[in-house]
This record gives sequence, structure tokens and C-alpha cells, in this order.
Amino acid sequence: MKKHAIAVLSYGMALSLLLCSCSSSTPKAAPPSMPDMSFMEQSNSAAEAQPQSNPRTIAPTEQRPLANTTPIVQSTPVPEAPAATPAPAPQAAPVVPQPAAEQPAMPKVKPKTNVPPASHPAKVTTSQSQRLTLSQLVKKYPDLLRLKGSSNSKSVALTFDDAPDETYTPQVLDILKKHHVRATFFLLGVQAVKHPAIVKRIANEGHVIGNHSYNHKLFTKLSDDVFRLQIQNTQKELHKLIGYSPRLLRPPYGEISESQLIWASDQGFTIVNWNVDSLDWKQLGASQVSANILNHTHGGSIILQHSGGGPGQNLSGTVKALPNVIQTLKDRGYNLVTLPDLLQVPKDK
Ligand SMILES: [Zn+2]
Repeated sequence: MKKHAIAVLSYGMALSLLLCSCSSSTPKAAPPSMPDMSFMEQSNSAAEAQPQSNPRTIAPTEQRPLANTTPIVQSTPVPEAPAATPAPAPQAAPVVPQPAAEQPAMPKVKPKTNVPPASHPAKVTTSQSQRLTLSQLVKKYPDLLRLKGSSNSKSVALTFDDAPDETYTPQVLDILKKHHVRATFFLLGVQAVKHPAIVKRIANEGHVIGNHSYNHKLFTKLSDDVFRLQIQNTQKELHKLIGYSPRLLRPPYGEISESQLIWASDQGFTIVNWNVDSLDWKQLGASQVSANILNHTHGGSIILQHSGGGPGQNLSGTVKALPNVIQTLKDRGYNLVTLPDLLQVPKDK
């Protein structure tokens, strides 16, 4: 158990430096207890055991042994697994801004996080919140944690996490522009600071920008203060660059605790995961990325891809698959829309 914990810790640290893919993990409903970082190991081995030739590398929902098989539970995303990319970690500087002198007070921080407004069912304690799986959170708060739009819709949304970078994000933008498609990008604060021109380009070309934390920490392992700083400092950087405060929030790995979910919702965020996972963070080839998307996309789907990754992470499969994904979805009669359009929420708050 101890060895396990140490391995998990060091893996988590390497991961944050990688800024790698945002998802991971086994289905939240599978283990009865709150997932800890060990799920990453499980998920990795599970993922590695999957034959690459099987386009259905992972069953985002259906194949999971869920105790509850309601549609909502079934659509619970399988959070991305951290990429297996080695972490050269060229930037050793800590990227989580601390509440240092130059960052005086965080005006939006509330003194208490665990006090939900009257609209929330009950006061949530941290221990309670950590016992809820993502599936349970979705069932309990279907309006706060979104995985998909209306299944009656003929619209679907392409989403790209861990942006921006200077390699893949521009290529993704070029393809979207060529095909007249608008998408949603979930940005990391640390990456936005590094590549401000690309952030502005994303916004200027009509795409919607959401908050994906500052440097891709697993929210459920953070203190309340650090969790809030991850979000607020990213908001601050994004607002400086794009002129609005994103309303959409996607937690790294799709993981968020109940109290964090409620706090973020109280702050005006709409928390959005996905129900179709391209698994592109595994550095799959274009045909498999395409299959993972096209075999599982239905009306209202929210599709997870990445346009940024850790050092050395190869997302060329995402780029190569994208024209085919777009054209095939269009041929099937789907409109490719942004998340605010799909979910009928504003892009800002
Ligand atoms: Zn991510």
C-alpha cells in the first residue's frame, strides 16, 4: 500500500510536469470506493492490455461493469489516462502560482467551500464528497456536471484539452478553419501564459475557450485553497488574453469532488466532461482515433480530443484524423458546434 502510494505520488508529479492528457482512469463506478491515484495505474495497465487493433480501445461507457445502468451513468466518461510519455520536464519551475506577494488576495475566494446554497441538497463535507464517484456525482447533480447535450439533438461538440501548445494546436486550428468548424478548447493557465498569441487566435477564430486548471493537477488531491487557485489564476490569465471569463470548466482527468463541484458551480462555472473519448493521448494512429470517435458519437455527444500534450507526446494521430472525423460527422448529418451552443449556456460568466 505504501509502495503503491509512493509510486502514485511520483507519477502524479511527473504528470503535472507533462501537462499531459486530461483523462484517465477506470470507470468511476467500478471501484466501490473513492478512486485514489491508484486508478491511474489500473487504467494504464488496463489500457495497455487493450489490443491496438481494436478500434474500441475503451468503452467510454457501455462496457464498464457499472452497478447502475441508467443512461446518465452509462454516459459517464472514462477520464483520460495520463500519457505514458516520458517526462523530460524541461521546466522545473513550479507552475502553480502561490498566493504570493504579487498575487494578493483572491477576491472571489469564499471563506467556506462546503456550504452549498439553498438550491443544493445538503451541506457537503469533504469526507462525504470524497466518497462519491463521478457516476454518482453525475446522477446527483446532472445540471452541474455535464457529459453530453440532448440526445435528440443533431449537434455534437468537438473539444480539445490541454491547449495551447505551439505544435498541435495551430494545426488543429488550421483544419477547423478549413472546414468551417468551431470547437471548444480547454486551456491550461500555464500554457496560455507561454503561448498568448495562440490563445488569442483560438478566440479570434470563433472557438470557445474553457478553463482546464492551471497546470493539470488532480483536483481531488488538492486542498481547497490550491484547488481554487488552479481555477482562479487560470481565469485571470485567460481573461487578460481573450477579454472574458470562461464559464466552462473541465477538471483534469475529469475528476472533481462533490464539494469542489458545488464550489465551482457557485462561482458560475458549468463543469463539462465528455461522453466520447478519442483516447488520442495514447498517441494512437489516425485510423484508431477516428474509430474511437466515430463508433461512439451520437446526437448530443461531447467528444474529447487533445491539442496539447507533454513534451514528446505525439498527437499527430489527432491532427491526421480530424479532417475525416469532421467530414464523416457532417455526412451523417451532425452539426459541429461549440459547447455553449450544445448545452445552451453562455461562454462567459
Ligand atoms: Zn487535460
